[in-house]
Amino acid sequence: DVIEDTNQRLHKTILLGDSGVGKTSLLVKFDTGKFQPGNFSATVGIGFTNKVVAVDNSRVKLQIWDTAGQERFRSVTHAYYRDAHALLLLYDVTNKTSFDNIRAWLGEIREYAQDDVVIMLIGNKCDCGGDRLVRREDGERLAKEYNVAFMETSAKNGINVDLAFMAIARELKLRQS
Ligand code: GDP
Ligand code: MG
Repeated sequence: DVIEDTNQRLHKTILLGDSGVGKTSLLVKFDTGKFQPGNFSATVGIGFTNKVVAVDNSRVKLQIWDTAGQERFRSVTHAYYRDAHALLLLYDVTNKTSFDNIRAWLGEIREYAQDDVVIMLIGNKCDCGGDRLVRREDGERLAKEYNVAFMETSAKNGINVDLAFMAIARELKLRQS
């Protein structure tokens, strides 16, 4: 096996964003490959999933935390941010409010997360063509303004789901070496 398992560090990665944007769905899709319509918020609390992502000839271990019932601005505890290595900040491309709230989320992050935290802005539900209210360019522009990575995803049909987590893992590996 050419893969060297030298990278033992667990990288704490947190899914953030308004309720209903698809945080749980994205994690479930990445973890199991499945999409189950319906709101998970009531049943899944704060929990994490460990996933190993192959980057070149090594493995990057992600401990991915889902948040539920804490999505409201300023209710995610600051200690929770402090030891995070990566943040996936989601909005829903069919929900303008969830996009407008991204600035507030980024303010929180800048205030409480580590300066070198890896951040990716994600416009989820990109499968919802007709219902789209946030253009890709708007997401790209906001990401550029805050100097964070950007991707549109669909937890429903899997578009860019693996790619998003792989990009995070790659960046974490780069910053470590
Ligand atoms: P959370 O509150 O951020 O964890 O959001 P959920 O994962 O519970 O998803 C909220 C709702 O959006 C559910 O009805 C999901 O089935 C739906 N949903 C999540 N991701 C997608 C997606 O990529 N496309 C579509 N069409 N629906 C999605
Ligand atoms: Mg959820």
